[in-house]
Formats: sequence, C-alpha cells, structure tokens
Amino acid sequence: MEKEKLLVSACFVSKGYKYDGDANTNIKIIALEQKYEFVFICPEVFGGLPVPRYPSEILGDKVVNIIGEDVTQNFNLGAIKALELAKKHNCKKALLKAKSPSCGKGMVYDGTFSHTLKEGHGITVRLLMENGIEVYTENELENL
Ligand code: SF4
Repeated sequence: MEKEKLLVSACFVSKGYKYDGDANTNIKIIALEQKYEFVFICPEVFGGLPVPRYPSEILGDKVVNIIGEDVTQNFNLGAIKALELAKKHNCKKALLKAKSPSCGKGMVYDGTFSHTLKEGHGITVRLLMENGIEVYTENELENL
C-alpha cells in the first residue's frame, strides 16, 4: 500500500538548510518515515536565502534579519513554493520546525532577537493552514 505523503522541514534530517548550516536532527521524526513518505521543504532556501544566513524574525507585517535587512519577499516566495510542492504531492499534513519564522506554529520569536516568543505562526505555516493543510511540530509527534 502506498504511504501517505507528509511535508517535512528538511532541517529535521539534514544539514545544509538551517541558518547556521547545522541540523535539528530528530530520531523520532526519522522513524516516522516508516509510516509516511516525506516531502522535504525548506522555505527559506526555496526563497533564495543562502546557507549559512543571518537569523530572521517576524516583526509586524515584515520579516527582518538580525542586521536589519528586510527579507519578507524571500519568506513569501518560500511559502508559495512550499505550498506548490504540497499541492503537487497531495500532502494533507505537514511536520514543521517549531518557533521558526517560516515553519513555526503557535509561537514564534517576537522580532527583538532576544529569544522572546510571542503567539503566531511562521510565514509558510500561515499559507499552508489557509490552504487546509494540517500542521504539526516536533512537539506533537503523537498526533501523526
Ligand atoms: Fe528548517 Fe524551516 Fe528553517 Fe528551513 S525554513 S531551516 S526547514 S525551520
């Protein structure tokens, strides 16, 4: 039987995506590959940002990096490309990295670069949810 496809933050399994080039490796997520076929996304890389890159946070209706550059367009483009891939593969669910300004669900950093969280979703998560895709973080693996 064909496995259900799951949109997954690429940094959960690989280096070369996260802003510092490292990975958020999570063995429990890798184990989920027995149940799902993973479709990897990295919206920030999809949006044209390099690795490594300056960390970014959502500030009002923009996304800025730590040196004050406006990277909103990169984040928006990455979100659109992630949604396109989800549609192409008919993904109904996504497992994405908590707190990220792209992939975070529920809580994200507040734009002050002081490790302070506020309520809200990352840019890609907003778009995916608006299009009916269920989003889960690494803190909700029991629901997958
Ligand atoms: Fe990981 Fe998402 Fe950040 Fe890419 S944009 S490094 S997938 S959290």
